[in-house]
Amino acid sequence: MEQFLLAIDQGTTSSRAIIFNHAGTPVSIAQKELAQIFPKQGWVEHDPELIWSDTLAMCREAISNAGIEADQLASIGITNQRETVVLWDRKSGEVLHNALVWQDRRTADACAKMREQGLEKLVTAKTGLLLDPYFSASKLAWLLDEVDDVRQKAEAGEICAGTIECFLLWRLTGGALHATDISNASRTMLFNIHECTWDEELLRLFGNIPMAILPEVLPTAFDFGKCQADHFGVEVPISGMIGDQQSATFGQCCFAPGMLKSTYGTGNFVLINTGSEALPSANRMLTTIAWQIGEEVSYAIEGAAFSAGSTMQWLRDGLELFPNAADSESLAQETDPEHRVYLVPAFTGLGAPWWDPHARASITGITRDTKRADIARAGLEAVCFQTRDLLEAMIADGAERPAALRVDGGMVANSWAMQFLADILDIPVERPAITETTALGAAAMAGLQVGFWESEQELAEQWQLDARFEPKMDDAERAERYAGWRTAVNRTLT
Ligand code: ADP
Repeated sequence: MEQFLLAIDQGTTSSRAIIFNHAGTPVSIAQKELAQIFPKQGWVEHDPELIWSDTLAMCREAISNAGIEADQLASIGITNQRETVVLWDRKSGEVLHNALVWQDRRTADACAKMREQGLEKLVTAKTGLLLDPYFSASKLAWLLDEVDDVRQKAEAGEICAGTIECFLLWRLTGGALHATDISNASRTMLFNIHECTWDEELLRLFGNIPMAILPEVLPTAFDFGKCQADHFGVEVPISGMIGDQQSATFGQCCFAPGMLKSTYGTGNFVLINTGSEALPSANRMLTTIAWQIGEEVSYAIEGAAFSAGSTMQWLRDGLELFPNAADSESLAQETDPEHRVYLVPAFTGLGAPWWDPHARASITGITRDTKRADIARAGLEAVCFQTRDLLEAMIADGAERPAALRVDGGMVANSWAMQFLADILDIPVERPAITETTALGAAAMAGLQVGFWESEQELAEQWQLDARFEPKMDDAERAERYAGWRTAVNRTLT
């Protein structure tokens, strides 16, 4: 009987399940949009029960749509939105609060205070991260301090804390396992990425987080256990867990040091594989664990712009400029190329290399003849300019200028944006035939672990190009447009 892999991709804006065949091709996809909860300005939450029920429903739908039986699943791999934290009761499994999402800025002041105390150097040395609300640590501290009874229960050992993959693993295994994988652990800001352990000093600094609430940290490819038979009819092993950006890097087959990928989902994430070396950044980029296979830990440098696809969502839903994100492509095509409108999408602050949590978005360069299409175009261009900011910072940190950029994520369907990206970077942009690279990475992890795929080499041979966008813009125009962007960013920084 033909065997398949099930990848769960629990993202920020949707919960998805994808079935892959042995060729690494998706044979069915089920997806449900996830409601975003905004209790206050700058706060972003998700309902963990909805994440769980949607994930389960999408897995069942994907299995059914593929026309297969669950016993044809060789394994399950999980990839997930990172840094988002959930707390639940160790006994009843009941969640204690909405999940605090990575985009949530409620702990900006707490982080600023720690920075004023001069703690950032120490935190960065241990974790490779910057002292920013983006990561889990300050969110966990907030939950322990602000939610009734939570601190007390945590100290009594009655609570489990975890990022999304950890929560899903716990639910899938019926509470048998409270574990995370090392790529997700490396994003909590409580994990020492050099010693590969939870760090007691960091737990203390972030308001005394009890060690007992944290999950066990395991490799990305690992026999995590089996999902309970009542979910899909049979027990299926779970053999891979990996944070979404690391997963996309693996799914793009960036196995070798120096290989680079850029993902355009809700945010934009650029990762470069640095092999067994954890390279510190002088340009406020992040050093992170890419994955661990067997004993071998691989590292990456990561740069992130918080808003990419979410900029298009805001233009669609906030400004109601167009009904579908894809409409931005035809709108951009009809603009006057002489217009210079800049949208700096600092809706939730600016990430690397600026790290200004208080900056807010702006649109500049508007004239009397500016039209809706110009704003749409400015949104797409902003995403490309931000990638250039990240790449310049990585190159300044010593990364080599890449020969090409491998892209994925929902936005890469937009060919106008991909051409502008190649133009503004002056680097060819490669769009793979299978853009489900985030899910594929988790499937690949799980598949290698159970022997569904033999080697990374086999996966690299399966990787196929859909389109290559060659830079066409002349140097003077590129320089002038980019300088205009930098001016717009400078006006937006606080
Ligand atoms: P995530 O995994 O972060 O939820 P996806 O990778 O699914 O995100 O990408 C979805 C995002 O891409 C949405 O924010 C949407 O606005 C944007 N998007 C999708 N298609 C297009 C398009 N053709 N042009 C521009 N943006 C798009």
